[in-house]
Amino acid sequence: MRTQVAIIGAGPAGMFLAHLLRADGIDALVIERRDRSYVEGRVRAGVLEQATVGLMRRLGLADRLEREGMVHRGTNLSLDGRMFHIDMAALTGGSTVTVYGQQEVMRDLFDAAQVRGLEIAWNAADVALHELDGTRPFVTWRDADGAARRVDCDFVVGCDGYHGVSRASLPADVRRTFERVYPFGWLGILAEVPPVEDELVYANHERGFALASMRSATRSRYYVQCGLDEDVADWPDERFWDELCLRLGPETGARVTRGASFEKTIAPLRSFVSEPMRWGRLFLAGDAAHIVPPTGAKGMNLAVSDVTMLGEALAGHYRGQGDAGIDGYSARALARVWKAERFSWWFTSVTHRFPTMDGFDRRIQMAELDYIRGSEAAQRTLAENYVGLPLTGGVSSEAV
Ligand SMILES: Cc1cc2nc3c(=O)[nH]c(=O)nc-3n(C[C@H](O)[C@H](O)[C@H](O)COP(=O)(O)OP(=O)(O)OC[C@H]3O[C@@H](n4cnc5c(N)ncnc54)[C@H](O)[C@@H]3O)c2cc1C
Repeated sequence: MRTQVAIIGAGPAGMFLAHLLRADGIDALVIERRDRSYVEGRVRAGVLEQATVGLMRRLGLADRLEREGMVHRGTNLSLDGRMFHIDMAALTGGSTVTVYGQQEVMRDLFDAAQVRGLEIAWNAADVALHELDGTRPFVTWRDADGAARRVDCDFVVGCDGYHGVSRASLPADVRRTFERVYPFGWLGILAEVPPVEDELVYANHERGFALASMRSATRSRYYVQCGLDEDVADWPDERFWDELCLRLGPETGARVTRGASFEKTIAPLRSFVSEPMRWGRLFLAGDAAHIVPPTGAKGMNLAVSDVTMLGEALAGHYRGQGDAGIDGYSARALARVWKAERFSWWFTSVTHRFPTMDGFDRRIQMAELDYIRGSEAAQRTLAENYVGLPLTGGVSSEAV
C-alpha cells in the first residue's frame, strides 16, 4: 500500500488530522490499535475551546454540535463554599467554550469519515515505524486476521496518545522529556441527573478539589480529588455525593441532585512534554507529545491545535509552497503547548490540596483565589487562557 501521510492512532488528533488532510486533497491512512466502539466509548474530555468548535464547523462536522453543544459564556470558582462567577465572554471580547463530550466528537468524526471514505485500518497490532530519518518511511502492522501489512508514505504522524509507539521511535539522544506527577488523582462519575449549575464550578475546599461539570442538561459529570492509592470500590455513590456536596459548600451542595452513577473511575494527574515534536519524517501530535492535568480542560483542545498547525504545514508542502511550515511545526506547536501546560499546572496548583501543604501554602492559595475574585485583570488572564490562546506566535522552548 502507498499513501501520502500515515497517521498512527484514531483519537481526536488522528481523526481531525485525517479530515484536515482530506479537505486539502491529501491522501492519508489512519492505523488504529483498537476498534471504533472502543475509541468512541472512552469517557474523557468535555469542554471545547472556541478554536476547536471553529475547526469542526470548517470541516463540516458541527451539525450535532450546534444542536446539542452547550455554549458557556463563563465559569465559577468556589473557595471553601463561597462561589464567584467569571464572565469569560465579557472579559475576552465574546469568546466562549462549548460543553460537548469527547465521545460525541469522536462519533461525529467517525460518521463523517465513513461518508467521506477516509481510510482507517482498525485493530492494528504490533504497529512499527521505519526509516523515519530517510526519504521513504513506512509503517508495518498485523491486521485483525494476523496478516502482515505495510504502507509506504511521505510522512508519519504519531497521534497514538501517551502509551503509543511513535514517541519512542525518536532516538533517545534526540528526545527530551519534562514531567510533573501530581500526588493525587480525580475520582469522576457520570450520572443521569441535571447539573447543579448552568456552568462549571471549580471548587477549592480544605478537604480537597471538586469539579461540577456536565455533558447535557440531564447528565452530570462530577469529580473529587482523591488519593492515588484509593480504590473506586471504596467510593459507593452515597460517599461520593456526600464528599462532593461538602466540598461545593452548603449553599451549592444543597442544590445537587443525587442519583445512581453509571461510570466511576480514578484518573492520575500528570504534566508531561516530549520535545521535539518532529524528527525526520515523523511528527508527533496530541497526547503522544504532551499530557496536561485535566483542570484546564486543555487535553483534547491541544491535540486539535497541534493538528491544525500540522495540517497547514503539510498542505503548504503538497501545494509546492515550500517546507517552512513543516520545519517550523515543532517550535510553533511547542510554544502553544507550553502555555497550556503552564495554565493547567497553575490552575491545578491553586485549586487542589497538596499533601505537603502547610498553613502558609494554604493561605497563599486563598489569597490568590481572593485576588482573582476581586481583580478584573486576574479574571481576564484566567479567561483568555481558558477559552484558548491564539494559534500563532510565541517563543518556543526549542529556542532555549
Ligand atoms: C481518563 C482520562 C480522562 C480525561 N479527561 C479529560 C478531560 O476531562 N478534559 C480534557 O480536556 N482532557 C481529558 N483527557 C485528555 C484527552 O482525552 C486527551 O488529551 C485526548 O484524547 C488526546 O487525543 P489524542 O488523539 O492525542 O490521544 P488519544 O485520545 O489517546 O488517542 C490515541 C489513539 O491511538 C491509539 N493507539 C495507541 N497506541 C497505538 C499503537 N501502538 N498503534 C496504533 N494506535 C494506537 C489509541 O487506541 C487511541 O485511539 C482525559 C484523558 C484520560 C486518559
